[in-house]
Amino acid sequence: MTSNETLFARAQAVIPGGVNSPVRAFRAVGGTPRFIRRAQGAYLWDADGRRYVDYIGSWGPMILGHGHPAVLEAVQRAAADGLSFGAPTEAEIELAEAIIARVPGLEQVRLVSSGTEAGMSALRLARGATGRSKIVKFEGCYHGHADALLVKAGSGLATFGVSTSAGVPAEVVQHTLVLEYNHVAQLEQAFAEHGRDIACVMIEPIAGNMNFVRASLPFMRRLRELCTRHGALLVFDEVMTGFRVALGGAYSVYAKAIPGFRPDLFVFGKVIGGGMPLAAFGGPRAIMEQLAPLGPVYQAGTLSGNPVATACGLATLKEISKPGFFDALAARTKALVDGLVAVAQDAGVPLVGECEGGMFGFFFADALPQNYAAVMATDKERFNRFFHAMLDRGIYLAPALYEAGFVSAAHSAEDIDATLRAAAEALRG
Ligand SMILES: *Cc1c(COP(=O)(O)O)cnc(C)c1O
Repeated sequence: MTSNETLFARAQAVIPGGVNSPVRAFRAVGGTPRFIRRAQGAYLWDADGRRYVDYIGSWGPMILGHGHPAVLEAVQRAAADGLSFGAPTEAEIELAEAIIARVPGLEQVRLVSSGTEAGMSALRLARGATGRSKIVKFEGCYHGHADALLVKAGSGLATFGVSTSAGVPAEVVQHTLVLEYNHVAQLEQAFAEHGRDIACVMIEPIAGNMNFVRASLPFMRRLRELCTRHGALLVFDEVMTGFRVALGGAYSVYAKAIPGFRPDLFVFGKVIGGGMPLAAFGGPRAIMEQLAPLGPVYQAGTLSGNPVATACGLATLKEISKPGFFDALAARTKALVDGLVAVAQDAGVPLVGECEGGMFGFFFADALPQNYAAVMATDKERFNRFFHAMLDRGIYLAPALYEAGFVSAAHSAEDIDATLRAAAEALRG
């Protein structure tokens, strides 16, 4: 039997940092990552045979919990018919129709294999469709690791960004403007200065890559107005929030509050693949038909619309569309967040939390942060202690204070209760 420690040592010899995606290495919180052997429902089992209640859910996709029978059956049936054809299939049409049916106003989608690929392609499409170069993103939002999007704010307000990664030439990010999330005046200034050159504004409407920060209604309303007035496309990156915070994604949350509200382009991933590599981007037909083979914007993929991934996504979308699914998921998620706030209060620890649908966040702070700097100013030492105390008690939370959490339909009331008991102990300790 191999333990987490042995596996981590072995992994580090052949994989940089021992992981295939950096956050898995536990660098933010310290300690040894858990090597997962199997998962079922709300639980993961690691290499040491320990069980954990899973609040990461593969970073969002596992909204039904692990090993859902209908999803497994769809995947097995699709696999038996062939793993990949590199030719169109009926299942791709069905998945595209299923996505469009759940997002009012969305007319066409193209399927790809990762959120990064979807975000990168949406960006190219926005630039191609508008004939403009500049793009706007917000500090703390993550849109995958395309060069032009790996950017943080430079010094001073509303300056063009500097890359957060080596290997990205300054020339590649010179068209990326990075603004503070929820900062209306900065947004107005950026459009006043660069409005004619801005191809698109890309945003996580509920930002899950800085834990959980909502775009305020005034900010979102103004963003839509400015994009429309200046002919820039508003791109909703719903890779995390799509089919997770509601069946219609974060878009449906904002459309309810702002009459007539609609983004121009959407980016999806995570839940739409149900745990398989699948993502998508979409928008109005007139824009989407700028893509090859119809239009001048090139985009392609050997495994795009892969039949096994497509079957997995379709089965997942069917399950989450059943009546009452999101009401139940949202109630369970809220019970978790309200419970965390209550046990923290009992322990005299400042903690605030937020949730929407099956996505949640909590901060060791007195008030909910509204931007990245405020998130990073919350109590990191306390978060790291809490993370490890919870992990020791069999509760698997995201290993960094800037990551969101996820509840699945497989999490029972007893799982939530057990989590809150563990939290009460962890916070007293
Ligand atoms: C996860 C994520 C991505 C990147 O998706 P990958 O499949 O990891 O490439 C992009 N945008 C958001 C909002 C995400 O949460």
